[in-house]
Amino acid sequence: MSLILNKVILASVLSLATLLTSSSALVEAENIKGDIDDSEYDQAVKLLSNYIKIDTTNPPGNEKLGALYLQKVLGENGIEAQVFDSAKDRAIVIGRLKGTGKKKAVILLSHIDVVPAQASDWKYPPFAAEIHDGELWGRGTLDMKGMGIMELAAMLAIKRSGHLLDRDIIFIATPDEEVGGTYGAEWFAKNKKELVSDAEYLLNEGYSIEAESGGKAKYWGVDYAEKSVLWLSLTANGLAGHASMPMSDSANNRMIKALGRIAENPPKMKLLPAVKEFFQSIAATESGPLKELYADIAKTAVNPSKETEAKLAVDKLKYSMLRNTVSITVLKAGYKTNVIPAQSYAELDCRILPGVTPEEFVVEVKQTIGDPSIEVKVIEWEKGDPSPYDNDMFRAIKAANTAEGATAPVVPVVVPWFTDSHWFRELGIHSYGFEPIEVDAEHLATMHGKDERIPLAAFRRGIDRLVRILRAL
Ligand SMILES: [Zn+2]
Repeated sequence: MSLILNKVILASVLSLATLLTSSSALVEAENIKGDIDDSEYDQAVKLLSNYIKIDTTNPPGNEKLGALYLQKVLGENGIEAQVFDSAKDRAIVIGRLKGTGKKKAVILLSHIDVVPAQASDWKYPPFAAEIHDGELWGRGTLDMKGMGIMELAAMLAIKRSGHLLDRDIIFIATPDEEVGGTYGAEWFAKNKKELVSDAEYLLNEGYSIEAESGGKAKYWGVDYAEKSVLWLSLTANGLAGHASMPMSDSANNRMIKALGRIAENPPKMKLLPAVKEFFQSIAATESGPLKELYADIAKTAVNPSKETEAKLAVDKLKYSMLRNTVSITVLKAGYKTNVIPAQSYAELDCRILPGVTPEEFVVEVKQTIGDPSIEVKVIEWEKGDPSPYDNDMFRAIKAANTAEGATAPVVPVVVPWFTDSHWFRELGIHSYGFEPIEVDAEHLATMHGKDERIPLAAFRRGIDRLVRILRAL
């Protein structure tokens, strides 16, 4: 489908170019051509199958086997790659396809490790890479060995074409993403950053093309920012006592009131310009009550009623983009039923939108609690630096989208989770989370769940799209 559509568009651009005798239109058409041929696609499916069969469940990971496999494939296709050990049986692979050097390099990033899979829950075994009804099954097909192979296949297709791009393409696959990246991206950023000192852009997992069930694209969501992570501890101290004689101001009672206020009073909504653009652009893809709420998001976000909040909360992910959030996670107090404890303790997991400091947010939390006897401390702060969303990378993704007829808009997205991207954003590399394949709700639920699988038609389109994005970049 996309193959035919693209050729038609390409042909019309070419004929227009002939009419206008304009060479720039020809260059433009060449830039967005992306379709891989059947043998390239067959090779990519084989690579993904082999890669899925290498069990890189983390913990323990054992990603070195995956890194060596990727190195071998790159080497066999004429691209030299290095493997660096970050720990026992854990390694990073990095390869580079040279361009003309006119522009700075672009990194294609993926992680080698996968989350555990309980084989007995699965319809087909998680490490056998079986194909059923046009879908390749296995742990990591979506998160994110599938994307890793799409990146690799796009790189090989560009190499094979013999056409030098303006930018070098750097392929990097890391271990340990699923448990924080200590032996993966963090290790790389600390020990080998000189290998990417010439890089300007990076593509990674993060978001994808949200699809209706059945696979029709709604919009292309490109994650340009991840929320910062702020973990807080709350401590209430008081007197211990015999539980037969209650104390209204006991540590537990004050803590419960404080947490009650936090649960009842979420932070005010805060509409970032990119988030406003996101909701306005996707409103047309919604039906029901969300359509209007999204279209007029600037109004929706001002003191929404409980009823409006409930409607928005149906889509938890999009809802999370509208405010800083607080989840009460750890509660600790007491050791015996008949003793009033002297201390009550809780932890909060707060996810903070770009542009808010931890100090500002702590003040807000203290105001909500309204009890100065509760001590609030920062126990973790991981800052998520946003990347710009009006630059060559966004334009390149839009060009790839236009090549397919631009039926689904390209929109910036803020995600509430962390990926390896933040380690590279800290190095000053503009990083974007975008898997260029259609993912519907059913398939999304299989990531970190059971029956993870990738529709092969989408996998093929994903490679085509990556080639187009890289050419346009
Ligand atoms: Zn992942």
